[in-house]
Amino acid sequence: MSELAERYFKVKERVHEACKKAGRKEEEVTLVAVSKFHPIEAIMEVAELGQKEFGENYIQEALEKIALRPDLKWHAIGPVQSKKTKEIIGKFSLIESLASDSLLKELEKRTQNSNQRQDVLLQVNIGREGQKSGLLAEEVLPFAQKVLQIPALKLCGLMCLPPLDDNPEHTRPYFIQLRELKEKIEKELNMTLPHLSMGMSADFPVAIEEGATIIRVGTDIFGPRKQY
Ligand SMILES: *Cc1c(COP(=O)(O)O)cnc(C)c1O
Repeated sequence: MSELAERYFKVKERVHEACKKAGRKEEEVTLVAVSKFHPIEAIMEVAELGQKEFGENYIQEALEKIALRPDLKWHAIGPVQSKKTKEIIGKFSLIESLASDSLLKELEKRTQNSNQRQDVLLQVNIGREGQKSGLLAEEVLPFAQKVLQIPALKLCGLMCLPPLDDNPEHTRPYFIQLRELKEKIEKELNMTLPHLSMGMSADFPVAIEEGATIIRVGTDIFGPRKQY
């Protein structure tokens, strides 16, 4: 078995264990393999092992890979510049990083005459970090209400990227906050939001314990990246 295959199955095993520990069904947790900076060959190898969903941060890089493997499911997980909107329509099964009015406006404009629906998550800056993108907790409800006005967009939940920390117990409180925020928004909007996207290589088992339905794992599957 290749190193890549070994790492992939190790992650699958840890997902299995975390679900068991948390008393959750494995089908409730979608593993997204974050493939930024890794070549299409590595993606194809992981796809051969049964992985179906991949995550990319940079739109240009993503579009090149999607063109080669449109059969896979792709998640946009990084900031999307609004000028790229036209190119991304219909390409991603989920846009996880919606957080700006400019992107929202552009999505509205570009989807007006289409009957396609785009699933989206709202990215929340849960640690209230200065330079990080994402909505502050108090901005989520009014922003969600604007999203609901746009027929082509389907609001599916929340995503976060908490402050980096090697100790997942330091990250757990942010996962709890995101889950509670989702529950609050569901109550206010009187609707169910199926997804909570949280947890990466350093902390996905803890995220699963706290209710993640999507985990985004890069390094533990593909190995270290050359750049960040
Ligand atoms: C890079 C990235 C990940 C994956 O991070 P790893 O620590 O390599 O697992 C997950 N989510 C987002 C938004 C990222 O940018």
